[in-house]
Amino acid sequence: MPPKQIDYNATIIHADYLTETLAIYRVKPDEPVDAFLPGQYAVLGLNHPEKGPVLRAYSIASPPHLHNEYFEFFIRYVKQPTSDNPLTHLIFEKQTGDRIHMRSKLKGKFTIEDTVGRDDPRMKVCVAAGTGLAPFTSLVYQHYHEHGTAGNHAIIHGSSYPIDLGYRSDLETIMNGGTTPRYFPTISRPRETPGWTGLTGRAETHFHPDNLPELERLLGLGDGGFNPEKCTVLICGLQGTIANTAMSLLHRGFIPEDRKTRSALGIPKDCKASLFWEQYDTVPVIDLKDPELVAELKKRLLLQGVELEEPVV
Ligand SMILES: Cc1cc2nc3c(=O)[nH]c(=O)nc-3n(C[C@H](O)[C@H](O)[C@H](O)COP(=O)(O)OP(=O)(O)OC[C@H]3O[C@@H](n4cnc5c(N)ncnc54)[C@H](O)[C@@H]3O)c2cc1C
Repeated sequence: MPPKQIDYNATIIHADYLTETLAIYRVKPDEPVDAFLPGQYAVLGLNHPEKGPVLRAYSIASPPHLHNEYFEFFIRYVKQPTSDNPLTHLIFEKQTGDRIHMRSKLKGKFTIEDTVGRDDPRMKVCVAAGTGLAPFTSLVYQHYHEHGTAGNHAIIHGSSYPIDLGYRSDLETIMNGGTTPRYFPTISRPRETPGWTGLTGRAETHFHPDNLPELERLLGLGDGGFNPEKCTVLICGLQGTIANTAMSLLHRGFIPEDRKTRSALGIPKDCKASLFWEQYDTVPVIDLKDPELVAELKKRLLLQGVELEEPVV
């Protein structure tokens, strides 16, 4: 018997292929969908004729105020999928006008309300590689819609080449119009990109202790100003970006929100988080079973004066 198919309840009203492996899709549901908060995700689904349906989570890249018009998604084609029916291989066949399934329930806790808190005055430094940018475009576009500025947000967006920098021109307009730019694209293949004058290296490189002073300068934070008193950090994407950014920031006393990391490092419950992440893959962010690594990470926090429950391992 052929596998049961899912119903299509939405239309791809615009499919924009930036490259062969990177696309922005605008999806309009047939029926109105509940409002959402920047940082939340939708579940999209497609039917493979023989293998059946596949559903996957995608961060909503468009701002909430457009939810009656469309939802935008920034999606990478996964060349080496782990499933035998990868959704990205189906969606990259789609064109404007094609139908799709979008679950009406929008979910997720990677929101300002559930992380930093709405009234937190500190700079929100958003770190993304590739499509991990999506929750942050929603956030910044919404702020711009409501207040006419990008507010206290900064974005460090890593990609291989400039062509992969989705939303670049909008973000430059919204975030770099003032005296201190707040949008910093960084590319990891500069040698293959003559003429590129912006930051180079992966997004996480800029948080390495050796490089942080330069980022402080760019963000107008002053020497040593990149700290949890002045900033909170939100990271989105795959394990490597999250792990390398987070581990570097322990050197500055940033406290992760992640429950397992806190427990392994002995961070007391009442110690407020200043480092949040949303992960797209399932590889453990930090190998918390590695005693040497855990000891080293604890040391970084102890040197910053963070009181841990079991400081010595
Ligand atoms: C909350 C949440 C939000 C997400 N939002 C987005 C988004 O906005 N855009 C997006 O492209 N993906 C996003 N993802 C990942 C997405 O759900 C799928 O896992 C991804 O598209 C691969 O699905 P697949 O069926 O094609 O491949 P599968 O057969 O499921 O293959 C999984 C493999 O894909 C890799 N992978 C997953 N996501 C990516 C990615 N973005 N870039 C490169 N490799 C990846 C994983 O490492 C894993 O090895 C999100 C995941 C979660 C949990």
